[in-house]
Amino acid sequence: PRPIYADTAEALHAVFGFPAFRGVQAQVVDRVLAAQSTLAVMPTGAGKSLTYQLPAVMMEGTCVVVSPLIALMHDQLRAATANGIRAATLTSVDTNREETIERFRNGDLDLLYVAPERASQQHFRELLTRGRISLFAIDEAHCVSEWGHDFRPDYRLLRPMMDAFPDVPRLALTATADRHTRADILEQLGIPTEGLIVSGFDRPNIRYAIRPRDNPLRQLQALLDEHPGPGIIYAPTRAQVEKLAGQLSTGGRQVLPYHAGLDAQVRAANQSAFVASEDMVMVATVAFGMGIDKPDVRFVAHAACPKSIEAYYQETGRAGRDGDPAVAVMLWAADDFARARQRLAEVEEHRRAGERTRIDALAMLVETPHCRRALLLRHFGEDPPATCGNCDNCIEAPGITDGTTVARKLLSAIYRTGQL
Ligand code: ADP
Ligand code: MG
Repeated sequence: PRPIYADTAEALHAVFGFPAFRGVQAQVVDRVLAAQSTLAVMPTGAGKSLTYQLPAVMMEGTCVVVSPLIALMHDQLRAATANGIRAATLTSVDTNREETIERFRNGDLDLLYVAPERASQQHFRELLTRGRISLFAIDEAHCVSEWGHDFRPDYRLLRPMMDAFPDVPRLALTATADRHTRADILEQLGIPTEGLIVSGFDRPNIRYAIRPRDNPLRQLQALLDEHPGPGIIYAPTRAQVEKLAGQLSTGGRQVLPYHAGLDAQVRAANQSAFVASEDMVMVATVAFGMGIDKPDVRFVAHAACPKSIEAYYQETGRAGRDGDPAVAVMLWAADDFARARQRLAEVEEHRRAGERTRIDALAMLVETPHCRRALLLRHFGEDPPATCGNCDNCIEAPGITDGTTVARKLLSAIYRTGQL
């Protein structure tokens, strides 16, 4: 028997034990409960799962959740079951599929997690007609768009699957969707434009600074000297990681490398040393950071341009998760962009336009004489104030120095010719 909750606040407390909603969660949940299809763009860690799990326990029937990775599904399943939510996964590795199908048909499931491939299977579509569906939740919804960074053709089959149930609302969720990708997700999944909810991207305690790279070693050493707390320096290649880690180690600070080419044991040891440390610096490729829980990182530096604004936001977002002041410093040079444009030729054709737009957006962030935070937040669909007072451009005022002027001219030349 399913418990009945008086309202969302009561269910939130009873099922999840949380005192309040965060950010736009309440707004998303309200729309879903009113059977209004929605695309919610919320950053990683903002609590997207709750926006379908809570309605799932309140609504009659089963919420069908589409998720791209079996490992992710099993994590979600564990967490949901721990909260007393009646949940199951239906994947090729599950041995209890018959039981799960029975539970779905009997209305004994709040959540049914499936991979997008299921959508193309006739017998799965038939199964859906045998139970009662409360909601379709599409996690990692950017996978439906070729504009996104992780296109999964199977996501395109979700629309016809869902169209067979016109009365069932749809909730698409993603952390990373620029303007193009968002519009595409809405269209591909049949969600009305007014169903878009974006929020929660601002990290006010992070001070953003983006500087021309003239003497990276000196610039990074100065950063280390100014910031005694733990920090991460991202470098584009394993060789550069090794080299920088060696050079910066001479300053007396503990500096360790991290990249996928290191022995798994060394990587694990360096990572635990970093997590435990109050002053260590990790020089790393982008392989470092996912799933690392260290709230007191005081700076994140990029020794070269990251590959997109999304990547920049995600990587800098590892700074200052405790809410205390932190800095994000990017060093860039024109050849970062020249190289990115050269790599375009190797990108599959259908992804090239999206990739080019991503490079251009990053160039705008680097070049802007205006507030970096405002540009970042607008990129993610928010409507921020024009100035933040906590980025280099807001602090150092709009003047553009000689060095940048030279760099800007170079960059414009690259735009015109497409190469250096
Ligand atoms: P996302 O999918 O957006 O990255 P998750 O759904 O995995 O985020 O949630 C991230 C964490 O936030 C989880 O540990 C979750 O339990 C927690 N969380 C979600 N909503 C709330 C809330 N309203 N109050 C407190 N913690 C929350
Ligand atoms: Mg999630």
